[in-house]
Amino acid sequence: MIQIMITKDVFETYTYFYVDKKTNHGFLIDPGAQADRILTYIAKKSWIIEKILLTHGHFDHTGAVDSIHRSLNIPYLIHENGKKYLEDVQWNLSAYCKRNVVLKEAEYLSDRDEIALEVNKDFSLKTIYTPGHTSDSVAFYSQKDKVAFVGDTIFKGTIGSTQYVGSNVQDLQNSIAKRIFRLPSEVTLYPGHSPSTTLA
Ligand SMILES: [Zn+2]
Repeated sequence: MIQIMITKDVFETYTYFYVDKKTNHGFLIDPGAQADRILTYIAKKSWIIEKILLTHGHFDHTGAVDSIHRSLNIPYLIHENGKKYLEDVQWNLSAYCKRNVVLKEAEYLSDRDEIALEVNKDFSLKTIYTPGHTSDSVAFYSQKDKVAFVGDTIFKGTIGSTQYVGSNVQDLQNSIAKRIFRLPSEVTLYPGHSPSTTLA
């Protein structure tokens, strides 16, 4: 089950809850802002969120991470190239918006890592490394549910921007052509700043 919450501080970001209906356990993807609102929603639903997953380290995807990580005592995971984004306010862009988002307790992911729920190993997401928008961008893909959380790599009707430190337009084109477009055509994509779309 996927639930969407549009969180807002400086920017609006699509925050996703990906929850296993059988166990009520799940993952929280890109909590961009409004930690209290997210925590209240999780409590109301009686979900057990096991992990926070980050598609990349820009602050509009991570602004609520520290509060939620502490409140729920759960880890947050990002691609191994995400360390410099999480720890550097220029790289994660928070410095340019008069914010100071610094995260130092991440756990790190590699391409093709499988992230499964503790209580149900069949409920999992695979990490697909998709650099370009940032050098730490990933998608989280479920073959079983035919969904992918793609961050800012691709949106409904357009592709991610490459104007930031760590961006690379050639990498973005390769990531989309060689990783995203090779997923089955019926997969639904859930981007960081637009409604869902399909590969088809
Ligand atoms: Zn971004």
